[in-house]
Amino acid sequence: MIMADCIFCKIADKEIPGKIIHEDDLCIAFLDLSQATVGHTLVIPKKHYDSMLTADPEIIAHVFKVAQVLANRIKERFNASGCNVLTNAGEAAGQTVHHFHVHVIPRYDENDGLKISFVDHSKDVDLDNIYQSLMK
Ligand code: AMP
Ligand code: ZN
Repeated sequence: MIMADCIFCKIADKEIPGKIIHEDDLCIAFLDLSQATVGHTLVIPKKHYDSMLTADPEIIAHVFKVAQVLANRIKERFNASGCNVLTNAGEAAGQTVHHFHVHVIPRYDENDGLKISFVDHSKDVDLDNIYQSLMK
């Protein structure tokens, strides 16, 4: 199913070019234009879902399986020492293209230019309260 004006639907449909490194019945993977690090790849379902939050769970499972295979291939080809595999859901989370996609970002060392960091709020939050809200 193709969504008009969705750039990733157009790449999946070969309407616009992409450096596609994997294709199967359900998904494609192509090089991210921005190359946060060398080898940065996106894995997307061919069918349009706005984000992981609304995607079919079986499609999510397939996309992540492909991401694992490609993460290992990319890591080996570029001699990376690790990788981040992540998906942004919603603008608050940094999602700019609203077609579910998984980033595979090989990591070289702490100076490879990419910073993903979590602020430590542990001193200011009531963990028990958060836990209770989730468990009721
Ligand atoms: P996100 O911020 O998680 O929505 O990521 C969207 C990603 O898509 C960004 O890293 C962009 O560099 C990438 N991107 C946008 N347009 C294209 C395109 N035509 N081909 C490849 N990557 C793209
Ligand atoms: Zn789409």
